[in-house]
Amino acid sequence: MLVLEYKAVVSKNQERSINEAIRTVQFIRNKAIRFWMDSPKDAKVNRIALNNYSTAVRKEFKFVEELNSMACQASTERAWYAIDRFYANCKCNKPGKKGFPKFQKDNRSVEYKTSGWALHPTKRRITFTDKKGIGEIKLLGKWDIHTYPVKSIKRVRIVKRADGYYVQFSIDVDTHKESRSADGEVGLDVGLEFFYSDSNGHHEENPKFLRKAEKEIKHAQRQIYKKEKGKNQRRKARQRYARKHLRVSRQRNEHAKKLARNVCKANALVAYEDLNVKGMVKNHCLAKSINDVAWTLFRRWLEYFAVKFSTTVVAVNPRMTSQKCSDCGAIVKKSLSTRTHKCDCGCELQRDTNAAINILNLARARDGQSRSNATGVATTTLLGATLVEQAAT
Ligand SMILES: [Zn+2]
Repeated sequence: MLVLEYKAVVSKNQERSINEAIRTVQFIRNKAIRFWMDSPKDAKVNRIALNNYSTAVRKEFKFVEELNSMACQASTERAWYAIDRFYANCKCNKPGKKGFPKFQKDNRSVEYKTSGWALHPTKRRITFTDKKGIGEIKLLGKWDIHTYPVKSIKRVRIVKRADGYYVQFSIDVDTHKESRSADGEVGLDVGLEFFYSDSNGHHEENPKFLRKAEKEIKHAQRQIYKKEKGKNQRRKARQRYARKHLRVSRQRNEHAKKLARNVCKANALVAYEDLNVKGMVKNHCLAKSINDVAWTLFRRWLEYFAVKFSTTVVAVNPRMTSQKCSDCGAIVKKSLSTRTHKCDCGCELQRDTNAAINILNLARARDGQSRSNATGVATTTLLGATLVEQAAT
């Protein structure tokens, strides 16, 4: 499972509806716990029994019926998760408290499965279609949800946090382990000239389709404003723009995925620059901004394939990586236009190759730390975790 998270833009009315849905989830969950507690000892209350119970609760309470039926089931599943954990603790005779299921008071999320919502065909918007009245929500975030087939979205969850509401999509991407073809170690340097340069001296070209598509998109965008507002032609121009945009984000995703897969398949250790740091110091030209988007995607796929191939992926601080000599460690100052690294020690390398070797050396140096990052499961990417599990922890 891959979890994509977006900040939600919601009105006061929508806030009320979401809070109401969150309260309903808690109500159903607690009702299910109560149902289990009150059942006679010989009655087998399992996941299915609780699912059936959610149907009964829907019949009884109007505000429960207003919540999508699969979302109701997801709520009783939360109860089941707590019960099941308790049973498991008892069975293995866990020392201390066994975690008897408690009634929840502070629920902060509502979870939909494959129904009760619809994605906008092109824009980053989602509409909740059940009777809770949440309606259409605009999503803020850099990931493009449209690059994944709607069918692969297994769960949609609205989470309330101190600073507002978030929408999470749980996407079913195949995470079966595969074996690596080689156990290499590689450092990757991001540049403008190439998509990346690696420590073995390979330069990965920037995909041409991106530059070409970028031009087309800019053109399509201008066409919208040339047409009169409210006219059919303008609507059509906007659709053309949206379609082009969608196509290129899919291509970009496929490209990033393919590259990341190859890199992780062939290497036991992959080191790259922590771009959040680098982004702040680099200049702001168009080419750079295109690369940044592509790189963020690439990075995400690296983390994904790291799990699949058991590859260690490490982000290192890019500071001084281009100035330092990868052979002797001396600082060799160079401007952006200097393409070759030439050191007094006799080391002569292409500039980015030198940087990539430094990146790899940094990753090797912080071995202990890198192991904890091994699966690339950082704060933004949650791999291998299902939403039910998260809800319960
Ligand atoms: Zn040197």
